[in-house]
Amino acid sequence: MFITFEGPDGSGKTTIINMVYNSLVEKGYKIIKTREPGGTAISEKLRDIILDKNNKELTYRTEALLYAASRAQLVEEVIYPNLQKGNIILSDRYVLSSLAYQGAGRKLGIKEIFEINKFATNNLNPDLVLFFKVDPITTLKRKNALFEADRMELEDENFHSRVYKGYMDIFEKYHENDNFVEIDATKSIEEVFSNCLNIILERIRR
Ligand code: ATP
Ligand code: C5P
Ligand code: MG
Repeated sequence: MFITFEGPDGSGKTTIINMVYNSLVEKGYKIIKTREPGGTAISEKLRDIILDKNNKELTYRTEALLYAASRAQLVEEVIYPNLQKGNIILSDRYVLSSLAYQGAGRKLGIKEIFEINKFATNNLNPDLVLFFKVDPITTLKRKNALFEADRMELEDENFHSRVYKGYMDIFEKYHENDNFVEIDATKSIEEVFSNCLNIILERIRR
């Protein structure tokens, strides 16, 4: 089973995926946790290029292709082989992030980004997408509490508003699909965690 955690910067994906991972490991499940961009040696190198603040000349199209390349490597090296073994894979971001950030945020077009990712992933789609819904003002405040900005986090509020709207538009289109589940990420960490864990356990036991 392949499960992805999606949502804007600061929506709590990394916090909750770690809690879910620990809990499932404790229950004895065979779990692989990964992240995007990254998750393999090559993909992590691509992540460094993408997020390097000094790479100001990186074009939006190059950026979109680097995200897709990082994902292609992750699918072939980690996700697909583990699915074949029957393991559960949890990923911090996947294609939906590219649709929202590169498609809507960078205005490259959701359809165009969808197409390059269809190729990159060889059409491998998640069994379950948990979409962490929380407005960009709340999330930016959460992140400002830490502040160690990477290249993306230096983007202005309009960019993050477009990303949020992109996520919402995509979600609106797919919300009747059983594989897309909206999580109220404005709730406390404990509430979000138990909500996600219950949904995942219910799917695993189906
Ligand atoms: P990014 O996309 O930038 O990696 P993220 O979605 O992984 O962000 P986290 O890094 O998990 O988000 O959380 C960002 C900050 O918000 C952290 O300081 C975390 O402790 C805090 N946080 C996470 N979830 C909640 C929550 N439900 N309520 C309040 N604070 C939260
Ligand atoms: O989720 P994580 O913090 O690892 O992502 C790193 C940065 O990359 C974030 O600031 C996020 O905004 C950006 N990103 C992006 N497009 C994606 C995935 C992540 O712009 N497809
Ligand atoms: Mg994170």
